[in-house]
Amino acid sequence: MTEPLVPRMREFGETIFAEMSALATATGSINLGQGFPDGDGPGAMLDAAVEAIRSGGNQYPPGPGVPELREAVAAQRLERYGLSYDPMSEVYVTVGATEGIAASVLALAGPGDEVIVFEPYYDSYAAVIALAGAVRRPVMLRPVEGRFTFDPDELRAAVGPRTKAVLVNSPHNPAGTVFTRGELEAIAAVCREHDLVAITDEVYEYLTFDDTEHIPLATLDGMRERTVSVSSAGKTFSATGWKTGWVTAPARYVRAVQTVKQFLTYAVSAPYQRAAAYALSNEIAWVAELRKSLQAKRDRLVTGLEAAGFTAYRPQGTYFVQADIRPLGFSDGLELARALPAKAGVVAIPTQVFYDHVEAGAHFVRFAFCKKDEVIDEAVERLRRLA
Ligand SMILES: *Cc1c(COP(=O)(O)O)cnc(C)c1O
Repeated sequence: MTEPLVPRMREFGETIFAEMSALATATGSINLGQGFPDGDGPGAMLDAAVEAIRSGGNQYPPGPGVPELREAVAAQRLERYGLSYDPMSEVYVTVGATEGIAASVLALAGPGDEVIVFEPYYDSYAAVIALAGAVRRPVMLRPVEGRFTFDPDELRAAVGPRTKAVLVNSPHNPAGTVFTRGELEAIAAVCREHDLVAITDEVYEYLTFDDTEHIPLATLDGMRERTVSVSSAGKTFSATGWKTGWVTAPARYVRAVQTVKQFLTYAVSAPYQRAAAYALSNEIAWVAELRKSLQAKRDRLVTGLEAAGFTAYRPQGTYFVQADIRPLGFSDGLELARALPAKAGVVAIPTQVFYDHVEAGAHFVRFAFCKKDEVIDEAVERLRRLA
């Protein structure tokens, strides 16, 4: 029998999340692998979704999204970042940020074109670049004084004649880095000089800690006109299963994204769009509380991991801590992650699966802290058995 899957997708088997979540279930382990919160979003937002269903909003919405969500997104970008977008021509609703990124890559990079990504990278990036027939060019994020960053020379060196786009994720999953203005300026300079489009993944835009500020790349000089910004309701409002996201970009980019997106899914679930519009307009105070609570959970997990013997990198944002396993005498995170449920009853994600240069990420595993305090406490208690 011949392999039915097209060659360009063969390197992408079952995702590590499916493997690790199945392992968590089979062994009754605490799952700090996949990044979904174990609490619900704001109650009035949940009511808004129910109300949208009850009041008959259950047929195909407009392909670009319901007007109230496009208006709420435009208002949010303006209020929070001073970025002005026309809700009708410059905002497009997608099935989560995942589809926004997929449609953007498929629309903007074709066979043989190159897309720069920062590794470790969110797993869907590599797959969708392959789906487009394009080639990924990774730029390494390395820990420097407790924080993952890149070398601007390596970024410049990654640009070639076929480079079309740079995919920028900040706050960054899994590294936990929130790019500084200086780092963003280095990216912007490369984009301007080589006429590249930037696709930004900003799903953790509200979930930054301490005094760290999320700066959208589109706010930098000359970048609004060449940036496709992607975000979603999932992380901001603890509703990762709602898969309601959006793209904001100049109209010509939105038209390009639309051309692809309309044939992937046509439109996005109508009731969740209405509820997301409500939340963006009314629940930002709730998100501020979520941010505070996540910051405390981050510290709880970092302290616990350190006590268990890991070197933990305190993230500036997101749901995740990167932990170096070498102080515990391990060297391969994939091996450890597969053994961890039996050894300690905890599931983590081996970060090497997010790298092209696997050896650079071999000794990291990623733990999620978007969990109840008692779950985090029990997990670190169990991890102490490793030492
Ligand atoms: C969770 C996540 C996404 C997916 O967002 P959806 O809105 O659920 O599609 C995209 N990018 C990063 C970095 C994420 O962590």
